[in-house]
Amino acid sequence: MTGAEAIALTQRYQMGNYSRFPVTFVRGEGSWLYDDLGKPYLDFLGGIAVAILGHAHPAVTRAITEQAGRLVHVSNLFHVPVQARLGERLSVATTGGKVFFCNSGTEANEAAIKLARRWAFDHHGEGRHGIVVLEGSFHGRTYGGLSATAQPKFHQGFEPMLPGFATVPLGDIDALDEALTDRVCAFFVEPIQGESGVRMHPPGYLKEAETLCRGKGVLLVADEIQTGMGRTGSFLASERFDIVPDVVTLAKGIANGLPLGAVVARDEVAAVFVPGTHGSTFGGNPVCCAAALAVMDVLESAGFYDAVVRKGERLLEGLSEIAARRTDIRIVRGVGLMVGAEMACETKPIAAKCLDAGLVVNAATENILRFLPPLTVTEGEIDRALEILSAVLPAEGWKS
Ligand code: PLP
Repeated sequence: MTGAEAIALTQRYQMGNYSRFPVTFVRGEGSWLYDDLGKPYLDFLGGIAVAILGHAHPAVTRAITEQAGRLVHVSNLFHVPVQARLGERLSVATTGGKVFFCNSGTEANEAAIKLARRWAFDHHGEGRHGIVVLEGSFHGRTYGGLSATAQPKFHQGFEPMLPGFATVPLGDIDALDEALTDRVCAFFVEPIQGESGVRMHPPGYLKEAETLCRGKGVLLVADEIQTGMGRTGSFLASERFDIVPDVVTLAKGIANGLPLGAVVARDEVAAVFVPGTHGSTFGGNPVCCAAALAVMDVLESAGFYDAVVRKGERLLEGLSEIAARRTDIRIVRGVGLMVGAEMACETKPIAAKCLDAGLVVNAATENILRFLPPLTVTEGEIDRALEILSAVLPAEGWKS
């Protein structure tokens, strides 16, 4: 099938809810993607923070193939060794609690919402079901995740949202304090907001938020779906901001591209999920778990996180150097390999030009260009990406 045929078929038979570039990828290797004509593209989006070990990582491919040949699915009515092992690995790598497996980020948040409400119900009785979220948050597209997503553009035409969600402004600790009433069971927070454009909290904010939550008996739920799995140079971004959440949600890079999500909660919270309270047919699928175990092995190999930090600094510095010579890049920010450039112009045309020139980057918002390369990206590939970006940025934006 040619790329043009794939595009025509997609347009004819799939719903139009995605705005797709007219490019058809047929193969990937490391940080590189190849289209149907064999043209290479440096992938600085990684399937939106999913291909954390790059494409076709040999250890992941081996794990998937071996597990697929042994056992693909049995349901959660039984025990499966790879799932059991992954639960242990995730618990040890995060907060030491217990794990619930699902298939995506929004499902992980959905489970965390149910967990928080049930925890409050079991401990405080009815009425303490409120959930506080931050303006600009993104927690998914199902009704729970969507209700927690405080961006009106995603709600339009889909109302009513679930009751019980309150939004506070980013960075305003007093507003958070006020919102955390005795009707609230949880505060959901992304350690760095991803979809709204790599937005960071002010220094100290997350620590103060943690103190507020602890003081008021409110669960601190860290949505680490985009920031977790080593993205910022530690397993969880929460570590970099010195907080210990009660509940963590994970997905995206967890199985390097296979659909898997997870919620990790400290034991006392996890205990409220008794048989019948929640479940998933596919959650914790053996093939996905085998891939995730291979991912964990690589993440926990010696020097891996240090390398992410080093490469992240190189990307940030390289972008800052470009920004210093231009009039249209306002600010460059990020932690580890989660980086954004705030532009004074529209980013979509820039992402399209990068794509044409063989670099995949993402226009996260109208004015934020986002970089989420595989964590295995090389320094040479970072330099190459910066060269391509420099070459395609509008000529009139260079300082004279
Ligand atoms: N939470 C965060 C922080 C995300 O970035 C995303 C996806 O971008 C989600 C939740 C939803 O994940 P999924 O698309 O796997 O449902």
